[in-house]
Amino acid sequence: MKQKILRWLGLEHQSPYVKNHFYATNMRSSIYMSVVVIVLEIWMIIRMSRMWFRGELPNPFSYYLEKYYINYFLLLGAGIVMLVYSLLYIAGKTKYRRVGKTLLYAFSFICIYFGIKISVGDYTKGEQMLTFLTMELFTVCLLVWRPVVGFLILTVSYLVYLYKISGLVPVSGAYSVLHDLGDLTPEEAYEKLQAVNASSGLSDATKINLFTMWLSTLLFCISNYHKTLSQALKDESLEEANRRLSDASIMDELTGIHNMFYFRTEAEKIVGYVTTDRENIVFLYFDIENFKYYNEKYGFQAGNTLLRDVAKLIEETFPGSLVSRLSDDHFVVLTKHEGSMERIKSLSHKIHGYQKDLHLELKCGAYRPVGEDADLDPSVACDRARFACNSVKRRYEQHFQQYDKQLEQRLRLKQYITNNLDAAIENGYIEVFYQPIVTTEDSSIVSLEALARWRDPTHGLLPPGSFIEILEEHRQIHKLDQCIIEQVCRDYREAADKGLAFAPVSLNFSRLDFELCDIVGFLETMAETYRVPREYLDVEITESALTDQQGFLQAALTRLRQAGHKVWLDDFGSGYSSLNVLKDYQFDVLKIDMKFLSGFSGNQKTRPILNNIVSLTRQLNMISLTEGVETQEQFDFLRSIGCERVQGYLFSKPVPLSTLRELIADGKLTIAQEYAQVTE
Ligand code: C2E
Ligand code: MG
Ligand code: MG
Repeated sequence: MKQKILRWLGLEHQSPYVKNHFYATNMRSSIYMSVVVIVLEIWMIIRMSRMWFRGELPNPFSYYLEKYYINYFLLLGAGIVMLVYSLLYIAGKTKYRRVGKTLLYAFSFICIYFGIKISVGDYTKGEQMLTFLTMELFTVCLLVWRPVVGFLILTVSYLVYLYKISGLVPVSGAYSVLHDLGDLTPEEAYEKLQAVNASSGLSDATKINLFTMWLSTLLFCISNYHKTLSQALKDESLEEANRRLSDASIMDELTGIHNMFYFRTEAEKIVGYVTTDRENIVFLYFDIENFKYYNEKYGFQAGNTLLRDVAKLIEETFPGSLVSRLSDDHFVVLTKHEGSMERIKSLSHKIHGYQKDLHLELKCGAYRPVGEDADLDPSVACDRARFACNSVKRRYEQHFQQYDKQLEQRLRLKQYITNNLDAAIENGYIEVFYQPIVTTEDSSIVSLEALARWRDPTHGLLPPGSFIEILEEHRQIHKLDQCIIEQVCRDYREAADKGLAFAPVSLNFSRLDFELCDIVGFLETMAETYRVPREYLDVEITESALTDQQGFLQAALTRLRQAGHKVWLDDFGSGYSSLNVLKDYQFDVLKIDMKFLSGFSGNQKTRPILNNIVSLTRQLNMISLTEGVETQEQFDFLRSIGCERVQGYLFSKPVPLSTLRELIADGKLTIAQEYAQVTE
C-alpha cells in the first residue's frame, strides 16, 4: 500500500533505466517546447518593435524595455540554450545529465515566470490570462514531472499568480466605481481603484476558473507521469529480457565464461585489427584428460564444479585474453604467444591440485597463424590447436604440442582409419600378406605369418604400423583380425581344393581381441566353415599383451591349445619382457624380437644373448624362431646356435599369396615337402 502511494506520488525509487527514460522523454519534449518558445518570442519582439517604430505605443521605450523586451529576450535566450542542449543530447554528443536537468528546471522556471509576468500585465489591462495558462500547460504537461514536483510547480506558480493579480482589477461593482472616478487625477483614480480592489478581491468566477485549471493541469501532469512510467517499465522489462537473451547467446551457462559463438566473433575482430601483431598470437586448446572418469567417479555435480574452477583458473592465468568454453571439458584461448608457455605450465600445475585419486591431466594444443599455410579463421585455428592437443592425449609424459602440417596429415589419416574400417573390410581393401618362416636346417618354408595390409584407393598401400595402434585405441581391432582370420581360412580352402602349396599360418592376435569379442570362438567357427585343420592355424600373442588380465588370457590361451592351435610368443624381448611370462604361460614357439639383430655385427653382446635365449627356449620345450633376419651372416649364426626357424627379408618380405607361389615356382624359395601340396 505504502509502495503504491509512493509510486502514485512519484516518490518511489526509480531504476537507472526508468530515470533515463524520463530524461530522454523530457529532452525530446524540450525540443518542441523550445522551438515554439523561440518562434513566439521572435515574433513578439518583431511585433512590438514594429509598433514602437510606427509610434503606436504611448509609453516611453524604457517602459516597454523593462516590462516586455527583457522578458522576451530572457525567454528567447532560455529557449535557445534549451534547444541546443536537447539537440546535442539527442545526437548523443553530451552525457552530462546534471547539466541537462538544471537547464530543464531553469527553462521551466523561466517559462512560468514569463507566463506570470506577462499575464499579470495583460490582466491589469483587463485583457486575459492566456500567457500564464499556456506556459503552465507547456511546462507541466509537455514535460513529464514526478507528481509531487508537478504539484509543487503548479501550486506555487498558481499561488504566485493569484497573489500578483489579486487586487489589480476591480471586480465587484467595478464599473460603478469606474464611473464614479469623475475628474480625479490618474494617480488618485489608481489609488481609489486599489482601495476598491483590496476590499473586493478576485471574483469567485475567476477563482473557480483558476482552481479548475490548476486541478486539471495537475491531473494531466499525474496521468502523463504514470503513462510514461508504465511505458518505461515495460520497455525496461523488454530490454532486460533482450539482454538476458543476448547474454545467453554469448555466455556459457555452466561456467559463466564466454561461449564459442562469442569467441569466434571476437577472435575475428581481434585478428582483423590493424594494430594486432599477428606473428605474436596463439590459439590454445585445452582438454582435461580423464575428466570423464572424474565425472563417473564423483558425479556430475562435482564434475561441473571442476569445470567452473578450471574455467576460472584459465581466465586468471590469461588475463586480458579471449577465453571460452568450447564444449564439455574443452576450452579455447586466444592470447599472446610471448610468455604463453610459462602460463600453460603454471595452469597445468594448478590443475594437478585438483587430482584426487584420478590422474587428471591438462593437455594443451597450440596453433600459431604464421608461415605458409597460416590461417586466421578462428574456427580453422581452433581446429588445428585441437588437432595438436589430441595428438598428446594418452601420452603420459607429454602435455603440450604445437600444430604443424605433418601432424595434421597424421591425424587426418587416423580419423580416416577409424571412420572407414567397416567400409574397407566390405570393399575388400584389407588384404593378407604372407611372410615365409623357414627352417635353419634347409631353408624350406615351414610356416607363414599372416600380416595385414590396407590397400586404400586414396592413401595407397598402408602398412599395419599406420592402423593397428589406431584400431586398438578405438577398440576396433577385432574387426580387422576377424577379417584376416576369414581370409586365411579361405586361402587355405582354395589351396586345398586346387591341391596347391600352403603352410601353417600364424595369425597375430591383439590383447583386445579377447576383450572385444570371442576371438577363439570365431576362429573355431571359421576353421569349421572352411574345413581348416587346427594345426594350420597358429596364434601369435605379443608379450606386452600378457602384462595384465592374466587370468582372462590364460583361459583363452588354454582353450586355443586344447582346440589344437599352436600359440606363439611374439616379439620376445621387445621391451616389457619378463621371464615370468615364460613361467606362467605355455607357448609352442618363441619368436625372438628383431631388435636383437639390429646391432648384430657391431655389438659383441648380441651373440651370447641370442645364444642363451635359444638354449632357454630349447630347455622349455619351445621352438625358437628369430624374426628380422636380413643377412646371411645373421642366418649362419642363428643356425650355428641351434635356432630352429628364422623369418626375414633375407628370404622374403611379406607378399601376397600369388607372389609367394611365383617365388616358389621360380625356385627362389622352397617349401617343406609336407606342405608342397595340401589336399585335405
Ligand atoms: P610382427 O608380428 O612382429 O610382424 C613382423 C613385422 O616385421 C612385420 O611388419 C614384417 O614385415 C616385419 N619384418 C619381417 N621381416 C623383417 C626384416 O627382415 N626386416 C625388417 N625390418 N622388418 C621385417 P608389418 O607387416 O609391418 O607388421 C607390423 C606389426 O603389425 C606386426 O609385427 C604385428 O604386430 C602387427 N600386425 C600385422 N598384421 C596384423 C594383424 O592382422 N593383426 C594384428 N593384431 N596385428 C598385426
Ligand atoms: Mg607377429
Ligand atoms: Mg614380431
